[in-house]
Amino acid sequence: MSQKIQINRRNFLAGSAATAALVTLHPYSANAMKNQMHLRIMETTDLHVHVFPYDYYGDRPSDTVGLARTASIINDIRSESTNSLLVDNGDFLQGNPMGDYIAYERGMKEGDVHPVIQAMNALGFDASTLGNHEFNYGLDFLMKSLMGADFPVVSANVVKDMGANPREDKTLIKPYVIMDKKITDGSGEEHDIKIGLIGFVPPQIMNWDRRHLEGKVNARDIIETAEAYVPEMKEQGADIIIALSHSGIGSADRTDGMENASVPLAQVSGIDALMTGHSHLVFPGEKFKDFAGVDAEKGTIHGKPAAMGGFWGSHLGVIDLMLEKSGNEWKVITSSSEARPIYKSGEGRKKIPTVESDPKVLASVQKEHDETLAYVRRSVGKTDAPLHSYFALVADDPSVQIVSQAQTWYIQEMMQGTEWEGLPILSAAAPFKAGGRGGPEYYTDVAKGDVAIKNVSDLYLYPNTVRAVEITGAQVKDWLERSAGMFNQVEAGKADQVLLNPSFPSYNFDVMDGVTYQVDITQPSKYDPKGELINPDANRIVDLKYNGQPVDPEARFVIATNNYRASGGGKFPGALGDTIIFEGPDTNRDVIVRYIVDRGTINPSADNNWSFKQIPGTSVLFDTGPAADAHVSNLKGVNIEAAGDGPEGFARYRISLD
Ligand code: MN
Ligand code: MG
Repeated sequence: MSQKIQINRRNFLAGSAATAALVTLHPYSANAMKNQMHLRIMETTDLHVHVFPYDYYGDRPSDTVGLARTASIINDIRSESTNSLLVDNGDFLQGNPMGDYIAYERGMKEGDVHPVIQAMNALGFDASTLGNHEFNYGLDFLMKSLMGADFPVVSANVVKDMGANPREDKTLIKPYVIMDKKITDGSGEEHDIKIGLIGFVPPQIMNWDRRHLEGKVNARDIIETAEAYVPEMKEQGADIIIALSHSGIGSADRTDGMENASVPLAQVSGIDALMTGHSHLVFPGEKFKDFAGVDAEKGTIHGKPAAMGGFWGSHLGVIDLMLEKSGNEWKVITSSSEARPIYKSGEGRKKIPTVESDPKVLASVQKEHDETLAYVRRSVGKTDAPLHSYFALVADDPSVQIVSQAQTWYIQEMMQGTEWEGLPILSAAAPFKAGGRGGPEYYTDVAKGDVAIKNVSDLYLYPNTVRAVEITGAQVKDWLERSAGMFNQVEAGKADQVLLNPSFPSYNFDVMDGVTYQVDITQPSKYDPKGELINPDANRIVDLKYNGQPVDPEARFVIATNNYRASGGGKFPGALGDTIIFEGPDTNRDVIVRYIVDRGTINPSADNNWSFKQIPGTSVLFDTGPAADAHVSNLKGVNIEAAGDGPEGFARYRISLD
């Protein structure tokens, strides 16, 4: 055995016993014999334009995101193995304000290089595939962005002209590449190897981005496409084939057009390893431990190595292959997978970075980073009314109204051409920032006039994604009964009763836009604050109407909401996970930005579609932020007056229900 390998082994042993600071060779590299080669494939996925460790919505640094951080892991890994390859798995062009800045403001002119591509070029990516979000800004923007890439980008199932089978398709971009690489074996000898990389995207892009894609491209089923092209790649001499699957690890049962197809994809003969993504999860990882066909600990799918590197640069997915050559055949003789994080969790919610930013990656987008900071701080649209949440729990409210308007606008488009087209669309939204345990300053408060991107995070606090559910009129009423648990039961004819139930969080106070209703708080609540049915016969929601007519309990409605609510968050009737008809790839926040940019001026004045039922001789007390004072005179539909100070810096108001 050569001198080189002995040195390598010593390094490895020293490293495993000592600190991580010592650069050590991976055991596959250290132990490879003649005709054995260690190939390391690194994956980023779902970067969504996160290069700097920065949260542009919050306008503050973040230790949980950024390719500049992942880059440091990449640098480490490159030093640990003799042969490595770096790929990206798609969803790089859209998903944070830097992406919106380039698409909506700066644009892509001839010769421009998109900042995320610039960063990827700086890191020397070998290849990438397209994610569904690459289509969000249209095909022209996408193609211009891809022109700046110093690496090939492949996608096999996005098709310009459909042939009789995938091999006869004219695809939008190259379906696959076969790269000629030289790799070094354990004896130091170089070998030529042909590495095939093929890309896939969920065919649901045709629905999600219909307005950009219809009539221009089509999308094929992932497995059907793989079954056609993988043998072709073999015919063209690919020694090993890696699938860049911008598709999640989901069901083992193959269904036509499935979105998360990576498990059945692993069964396609000829594919040696899979990079996965799209679902923003980590593989190998706990989350997948009960999935059929999946070894969540070892990191294999149907016995083939696979990885998923989180999202926004949070992890680097790594697959190590030990290859052996005999004659002209290359075989994977052993493999392992991991996902390396850029941070670890400390006490409470604290995140501790495990790596520093790579200065060369930061430098590659410094200019666009600075421009994005200016962009999030400057107006992108106007509001005709102040957007605040001081009265969101006692009256229809502009900060909730704008969320509902954007959700309805988006879901209307998504329902086109589906079996739900034509059903009434309602929107459910709750005030996230409405005092309570957050304190008297914890309210949304955007003045009339300019709206900046950073205000949107104030309007929509959580990175939820959009969902639609289909429910009955009876479930609409029960959904609102569940919300109405926000209020204490009051006695008719009594003054100054406490209105809000402090154990009921405001994020579970869904207001339903698109119907009109009143809340009778002399009735007991039908549900307790956790969503348990406690008074089956109670009816707080009265006079519930759609289009001026009483809501038929049998009628069908589509409700625009978010992933948290639709999948059972808060246990809302009709939203227990079994009524979902649409899973949007877009965050509610992105939809609000798109809505504001699309409209230019927004008019979020509340339409007073809900109010308290009047009760003679009755009043209640309600605490809100002291800054509410500036807005109280504009409040419509509520008979309200200041009533001094509340506890802990809150201001108190009296609402007469007379
Ligand atoms: Mn994504
Ligand atoms: Mg995706």
